[in-house]
Amino acid sequence: MNPSLSTLLSDVKEGHRLSEAEARRLFKTQNRDVWDIAAAADEQREHVVGNAVTYVRNQNINVTNLCINSCVFCGFSKKPGDEGIYFHDRDTIQKKAALAKSRRVSEICTVSGLHPEFTAQSYIDIYRWITEAAPGVHLHASNPMEVAYGARKSGMSTRDVLVAMKDAGLCSLCGTAAEILVDPVRKTICPQKITTDEWVRIITEAHQLGIPSTATIMYGHCESDADRVCHLAILRELQDETHGFTEFVPLSFIHMNTPIYKSGKARAGATGREDLLMVAVARLFLDNFKNIQVSWVKEGIKMAQLGLLAGANDLGGTMFEESISKGAGATNTDYLDPAEMERVAEDCGRILRRRTTLYDLC
Ligand code: SF4
Repeated sequence: MNPSLSTLLSDVKEGHRLSEAEARRLFKTQNRDVWDIAAAADEQREHVVGNAVTYVRNQNINVTNLCINSCVFCGFSKKPGDEGIYFHDRDTIQKKAALAKSRRVSEICTVSGLHPEFTAQSYIDIYRWITEAAPGVHLHASNPMEVAYGARKSGMSTRDVLVAMKDAGLCSLCGTAAEILVDPVRKTICPQKITTDEWVRIITEAHQLGIPSTATIMYGHCESDADRVCHLAILRELQDETHGFTEFVPLSFIHMNTPIYKSGKARAGATGREDLLMVAVARLFLDNFKNIQVSWVKEGIKMAQLGLLAGANDLGGTMFEESISKGAGATNTDYLDPAEMERVAEDCGRILRRRTTLYDLC
């Protein structure tokens, strides 16, 4: 017989590791029990990581929006002949990196479209240029898809690409391109992307090479509760093995300008209940993750604040430049002033603290 919700939540508090069936049950919650789950996750957050709300001062540099893939949830990528294509050269990239440094960012983040001309060397060059123009700034870049693409184009192993990227200045890997780590869902939403096994293998290689990464999920399109749990279980198992994930970042699907939504095959993003439960269940299920981030870019600052009351401890980055969510139809994604983050944190009775990419407090 299933334990009552309050027994289950109190067992988790005492150290019980949620099973996948139990996590599915939590995701299905539709009534006021949602608040109990959020409260248990908030308590867990306080126990694991304390009361600070953290953020990182960062800037995104998207080098190109031209991409050979056609992920149907993507409103960012362009094909040859489309309007609005860009492909920044060395000079522009270095100017952007120098501007970021002058803004006192501690992190530059770069992920781009899979440009048809890119090889492994293209990524390596870009990382060297950024490191040259912004020495001392943490370079958080690439993702397993870009590593696999560079490797394929250059006839190298993904491990060797990662080693070369690290030599060129890569400090940590973006845990994006994970989307939903369930292959039938991937076949629908990103058929040309690497498989779940490849994503797991490349992340494992990165962690083994001393390159930490984030972990993400992109939810609210055509996946089921069971798919979400399967995804979380893969991340938890991987973290048990490598301890290389710095944080978990749920990314709520921005639907407006995406092919999958326009064709009627995806819902119009997650609801508020789903956003809240995504954070709360993640906090309770991922017992080996210290940091759970809420993305103000994807959810807006009001929903992000509720996430801080449901298990999250981090507000992500200030940004300064963001084009991926904007391409998909999100607004106000360019910059969030730490003063606004502070207002939101203090409104929950918490304090805002600036952090590095690897969660050292500044
Ligand atoms: S999600 Fe990334 S790989 Fe997929 S189409 Fe968009 S830019 Fe390309």
